[in-house]
Amino acid sequence: MARILRGDALTRRLDDDLRAHIAAIAAAGGPTPTLAVVLVGDDPASHIYVRRKHKAAQAVGIRSIEHRLEASASEEVLLALIDRLNADPAVHGILVQLPLPPQISGDRVLGAIAPHKDVDGFHPVNVGRLSTGSGGGLVPCTPLGCMLLLEEVIADFTGLKAVVIGKSNIVGKPAALLLLERECTVTVTHIHTRGLPEIARSADILVVAAGSPHLVRGDWVKPGAVVVDVGINRIVHPDGSKGITGDVAAHECDHAAVLTPVPGGVGPMTITCLLRNTVAAASAAQAP
Ligand code: NAD
Repeated sequence: MARILRGDALTRRLDDDLRAHIAAIAAAGGPTPTLAVVLVGDDPASHIYVRRKHKAAQAVGIRSIEHRLEASASEEVLLALIDRLNADPAVHGILVQLPLPPQISGDRVLGAIAPHKDVDGFHPVNVGRLSTGSGGGLVPCTPLGCMLLLEEVIADFTGLKAVVIGKSNIVGKPAALLLLERECTVTVTHIHTRGLPEIARSADILVVAAGSPHLVRGDWVKPGAVVVDVGINRIVHPDGSKGITGDVAAHECDHAAVLTPVPGGVGPMTITCLLRNTVAAASAAQAP
């Protein structure tokens, strides 16, 4: 029977650490870590995500300020807001909720955030730091959450074979870089990869971020593998009820050593890592 590695249990511990860290910053005369969240338009899912991030921030003692712009807002207006937030010393982290409306270039907007306030870790400077392994950058939240989960069950990553399914900039690629940094032998795969089941079967660590429900079947998983399921897929059950499922057919993976559940696995870790990045950004701003 695979061990189910729950992210929600781990986040409780990590959130306690964050509260202690925030208290230490305050005790040293530092400011309350502050996160500015920018939401453009009225995408219902984005509103839910922003509300969740706001609540989670408040729960650990991070001040979270929301800036809302109309769906018709111009890129100039958004860039001007980011300029103001970049210049505001009371703001330590800036998050622009994606997706953005079509008139706004996501690349230009994400590139405009000051790298040391880029708590999503998407700025090219932070991507570059991750790629070169130079450290000191802010790391994208979902792959960082995957690594913290993996660290719960793997003491030494050296030489392990890791396969990442999905090569997006927000999950697959940074997850691969983080695993490479830990001296894993990493294979990155995607929708055009040939012979994917066989490649997946070679993995000691299998990170799946494809957005395809139950893509990974039981016979894609090596006995004893550690499987991190990043996928969040909305499904309708045969009885008409709605639910969420991952990219891994978990019920076929009893032979894995460890499996993260969906929901309750990587999802909660992503928010905790956003809070962690905000506190790291606030601490760095305090450093002499
Ligand atoms: P994306 O659509 O940007 O990228 C998907 C990647 O998977 C692409 O590289 C694509 O080539 C690959 N892929 C798709 N179908 C495939 C298939 N059949 N075989 C092999 N490769 C395939 O998606 P994303 O933003 O990286 O997100 C991936 C999944 O992770 C989604 O389900 C998303 O909802 C979820 N996600 C979860 C969290 C979280 O907090 N848990 C955060 C971000 C994304």
